[in-house]
Amino acid sequence: MAKSTKSQWDGFSLKPRKEMPKGLWVKCPGCEQTLFQKAVTENMDVCPQCNYHFRVSADARIKYLADEGTFEQILANLVTADPLDFSYKGTKYKERAKAAEKTAFGKEAILVGKAFIKGRAVMLAVMDFNFLGGSMGAVVGEKLVAATEKAIEESLPLVVVSASGGARMHEGVVSLGQMAKTSAALAKLDDSGGLFISVLTDPTTGGVTASFAMLGDVIIAEPQALIGFAGPRTIYQTIKIELPEGFQRSEFLLEHGFIDMIVHRKDLRSEIARLIDYCGKKS
Ligand SMILES: [Zn+2]
Repeated sequence: MAKSTKSQWDGFSLKPRKEMPKGLWVKCPGCEQTLFQKAVTENMDVCPQCNYHFRVSADARIKYLADEGTFEQILANLVTADPLDFSYKGTKYKERAKAAEKTAFGKEAILVGKAFIKGRAVMLAVMDFNFLGGSMGAVVGEKLVAATEKAIEESLPLVVVSASGGARMHEGVVSLGQMAKTSAALAKLDDSGGLFISVLTDPTTGGVTASFAMLGDVIIAEPQALIGFAGPRTIYQTIKIELPEGFQRSEFLLEHGFIDMIVHRKDLRSEIARLIDYCGKKS
């Protein structure tokens, strides 16, 4: 009798499996479940199981916040002049900024323009973490100031959605100067009786937290967002004190009076519209 050549592996392929199409599934960092990407996107990039708020791109943020098709962007083509002619690890900052345009929605870490939120006209500024970590350089500062001045001129509420790693170190002291520049413009908005609603999303840190993000008349945060100035390790190395877990999250900050409210992403539009009406800034 001929020996059977059939092995237990017949029918199994040793070829590598086809990769799962990119972006079809996503693992939730909150509940660690594997989720269907489409279900997450349709839920405003919030986990349907545990409400974990994923970071969103600037275009998605505008889509979730503004009335459809109402965002009219200004200064869309403003790009950095690279004041220090800066290079890092052999790559020029200007080249990095150019490359960042591919991962981000626009040409810089912030998009500003006029929009409507539930029928209320606003000046809207949305930061984009996909552009060099949402860092604030001269262009971010300039665009934010332009939005603030327009809000004063047209007597519109200013809504700024932050998502930032802080000041852009590629621009050195020029980036730090934006902290004072944006704060001064917001003081003028305040003097004119204008309304500034600041929305903090994950993450809002460094020079952005230390300037305009914390100057809102009303400060809203998304659930569980990382909000702080320096990171826990830097704080420990500086003051040699271990701070409690979660001390830089929205919930802790609300409990300690640093922010006014925590709002789920799906409720942001209604809450902002309600605040505008409450403050008498309905256009
Ligand atoms: Zn989850």
